[in-house]
Amino acid sequence: MSKFRIKVYPERCKSCQYCIKFCPKNVFEVGKKVNAKGYEYVEPVRMDDCIGCQSCTRICPDGAIEMYKEVE
Ligand code: SF4
Ligand code: SF4
Repeated sequence: MSKFRIKVYPERCKSCQYCIKFCPKNVFEVGKKVNAKGYEYVEPVRMDDCIGCQSCTRICPDGAIEMYKEVE
């Protein structure tokens, strides 16, 4: 079985929330922590629901999201 894993690079995120809007599985939420630029960066809080569609990696204007497949 394989799982999709999502990595958000906090320092690249501008909290535009496009990933939240475009993720069909509602994986992301704006977190409570702030990066060095003062943005509340998003976190992949429901990563186990990810279906690997890559909408988030494509839509993020700042390349802050990476998706990879974990093979078990
Ligand atoms: S790959 Fe698709 S399902 Fe997974 S977090 Fe990104 S937008 Fe959501
Ligand atoms: S699309 Fe990219 S920059 Fe925008 S909130 Fe999501 S991770 Fe941050």
